[in-house]
Amino acid sequence: MEYFEYRNGTLVAEDVTVSKIVDEIGTPFYCYSATTIENHFLDLKNALAGLPATICYAIKANSNIAVIKTLADMGAGADVVSSGELTRALKAGIPAKKIVFSGVGKTSEELAHALKEDILQINIESEPELNELNKIASAMNKKIEVALRINPDIDANTHDKISTGRSEDKFGIEWTRIKDVISLAQKLDNVKIVGLAMHIGSQLTKLDPFREAFIRLETLVKELRLEGYEISRLDLGGGLGISYDGLPTPTPAEYGKIVKAVFKSLNCDLIFEPGRFIVGNSGILVTQVIYVKQGATRRFLILDAAMNDLMRPCLYDAKHSIVSLKEPKDGDNLERVDVVGPVCETGDTFATEIDLPATVSGDFLAIRSAGAYGAVMSSTYNSRSLIPEVMVKGNNFSVIRQRITPEIMINYENFPEWYT
Ligand SMILES: *Cc1c(COP(=O)(O)O)cnc(C)c1O
Repeated sequence: MEYFEYRNGTLVAEDVTVSKIVDEIGTPFYCYSATTIENHFLDLKNALAGLPATICYAIKANSNIAVIKTLADMGAGADVVSSGELTRALKAGIPAKKIVFSGVGKTSEELAHALKEDILQINIESEPELNELNKIASAMNKKIEVALRINPDIDANTHDKISTGRSEDKFGIEWTRIKDVISLAQKLDNVKIVGLAMHIGSQLTKLDPFREAFIRLETLVKELRLEGYEISRLDLGGGLGISYDGLPTPTPAEYGKIVKAVFKSLNCDLIFEPGRFIVGNSGILVTQVIYVKQGATRRFLILDAAMNDLMRPCLYDAKHSIVSLKEPKDGDNLERVDVVGPVCETGDTFATEIDLPATVSGDFLAIRSAGAYGAVMSSTYNSRSLIPEVMVKGNNFSVIRQRITPEIMINYENFPEWYT
């Protein structure tokens, strides 16, 4: 359930009229619905009920501290992939003992930060990383629980750039070599292998790759146990896809059923790292049409939002649904348009040849499903601002990140001292 709908002819986020936010802060901006975030978390939690499961929200999907706090207050843990995300998770109130640290290239400083904060678990992706962690932990006189991230060599059938579980991808340790790495780890005094981790990709819209990868993991656990290794915790990663276009996607209940079928009898603690599923459809990007331009063969709606604000269409060929803040009416005259931003790149295109009710300059649009991998990936390309983020709850709204303007950024630049 998503709390963006038309009421009295205009788009509302929960009980707040979106155009009211436009009047107060101007466009473009991200708008998140806290209740939608909570509901998606609960959907997943309910689907996993009966399992010893911890849901560690993958902060990289949307790392605004207000978003993290919304989930912390629901009892979520966090999956972090950098020191910066660890700082955010702690600041937003996630207990250290519910934080796991993933990522293929954690630096010594990042490993030390995780050790200092006594987080739950570090997911290790290579032998050099394992040795480095042991060295740092030893110097700090600590012992940390570790899961080895396996690369199961399963194709998640998602976009190439967000597929992470094939043998040619940089992530994890080949599943066929896990035994060797575990036996290496057992010789190290300052790491304790508690289990295995896996994350095969993002925006999975079919369950089969999950099932296949889970079965591979289960087989591996059984083999390792036969050889006397204790495996008590499994981190199953994230990846559950959402609908960007209204077409059905797997439900958390279907996903939960597969998890139960495969893992119930193993008696392992389970960790899940959902990102997109929780926040993706909880956010919209609100933007104004600057110009309507009739080109030689296409009609362009030129927005004040651009690829620097929302990279996904350019980066992943993502198709986000785009709607007007004014409710469309039966019998509206539809126009076929390309929806583009003002940045000097042809890739700055949100949609091509879509049908929208006739739009004029000054109208407002919402780009839907922009809550995940939206604001977090934005840049200041073309010296544009980092745009505000707003959170709505019931009939309240609050700016949870102010606009960061070029003036602010220029303050961090200077001429070399030899230019007088
Ligand atoms: C990105 C990532 C996730 C979250 O993926 P979603 O598709 O947003 O659920 C979880 N775990 C790891 C290790 C990741 O890199």
